Amino acid sequence: MHIVYLGLGSNLGNRKAIMRDTITLIAKQIGEVVRQSSLIETEPWGFESPNKFLNACICVETELAPRQLLEATQRIEKDMGRAHKTKDKQYEDRIIDIDILLYDELKINEPDLIVPHPLMEEREFVMVPLKEILK
Ligand code: AMP
Repeated sequence: MHIVYLGLGSNLGNRKAIMRDTITLIAKQIGEVVRQSSLIETEPWGFESPNKFLNACICVETELAPRQLLEATQRIEKDMGRAHKTKDKQYEDRIIDIDILLYDELKINEPDLIVPHPLMEEREFVMVPLKEILK
């Protein structure tokens, strides 16, 4: 069993319901959600938008290997209605974004999967909820 920390963010639609439904899908498709931070509201990071984000972090126990986990989080983003990926590193409004923050003590450095998530330490919207649940 592996312990993973995921960061969630939503700034479109009924954000609370989207976060709740995403966590339900994660519990079904990835593994038991053992801890969940509070929801915090934050300004968009890296782009201008009137739509604020709700952010949260969750801790999940999973049997999935890192790459299977990435496939699962991307499938859930798609199922939740996120139409397209971030283009040319331009950030934009999104229904749901799921980042893999930590996977056990593992360090992964592949073109499409970097763990620990490279930008998490400079993002308060990740670190504040993460610290709430990190053990
Ligand atoms: P975004 O559009 O912000 O969701 O960025 C997703 C892209 O980042 C995908 O193409 C992933 O392959 C890549 N990526 C690299 N490392 C991670 C990670 N730790 N968690 C989620 N996506 C990652």
